[in-house]
Amino acid sequence: MAAKVIKPVRSGVVAPPPARARKIAASEPVSAKKRPGKTKKPLAPERVAAILDALAKAYPNAVCALTHTSAWELVVATALSAQSTDVRVNMVTPVLFKRFPTPKDLAAAPLPEIEKIIHSTGFFRAKAKNIQGAAKAVVERFGGKVPQTIEELITLPGVARKTANVVLGSWFKIASGVVVDTHVLRISRRLELTTHDEPVKVEQDLIKILPQEQWIDYSHRVIYHGRQVCVARKPRCADCSLETLCNSGDKTWSSH
Ligand code: SF4
Repeated sequence: MAAKVIKPVRSGVVAPPPARARKIAASEPVSAKKRPGKTKKPLAPERVAAILDALAKAYPNAVCALTHTSAWELVVATALSAQSTDVRVNMVTPVLFKRFPTPKDLAAAPLPEIEKIIHSTGFFRAKAKNIQGAAKAVVERFGGKVPQTIEELITLPGVARKTANVVLGSWFKIASGVVVDTHVLRISRRLELTTHDEPVKVEQDLIKILPQEQWIDYSHRVIYHGRQVCVARKPRCADCSLETLCNSGDKTWSSH
């Protein structure tokens, strides 16, 4: 009997059973019959628990990738990360915080100087205005300290729920909501944990089905997964530790 060929997988991920595995060729249209179907009960507690378990095993140490040493720095870094990359933001923020270390310094800074420093993150005029507005608000209304409630945080210029949840979760370790960025939105949909495509509605769905103690880690881990495996185009399903739990219609490889 011929020996089974086991596909090489990255360390830390589970190999799907090779005998039943099939590759879905990107060049060939996949008929509706062959496409993985919908999951019968996608929100069943045991399925949700299995997804959380697989994510925890694959990314046990996932944390926020934005460099920061205080809640204030994380507010600014998150605001700058919109339409940019964490790598780019991590190149800009050390320069910005060396020049203007505190909210008070940034509130009094010449706007063109802020714009020049953050230019490469894109949308630099709006971002400069927002982070300076947030600095003024923190100084004038919160005594120079970043507030610790979502209701107060979202009153800062340029701070919406996503940024507020990042700051509360990553710095203060307060699970007030679930961070929904582009990765969390895409992967939560692929895993059928939501059918919505608006971040606020996706967050509402996730809050209902995820245990609150998992809200912070879920986002961190899914963001890692979205960067490394479940990428937007051609997800690397053959390397995915959630593959046996996933019936997404755009899988590139399936064991079931
Ligand atoms: S199996 Fe594919 S589509 Fe599903 S979560 Fe994994 S990488 Fe994403």
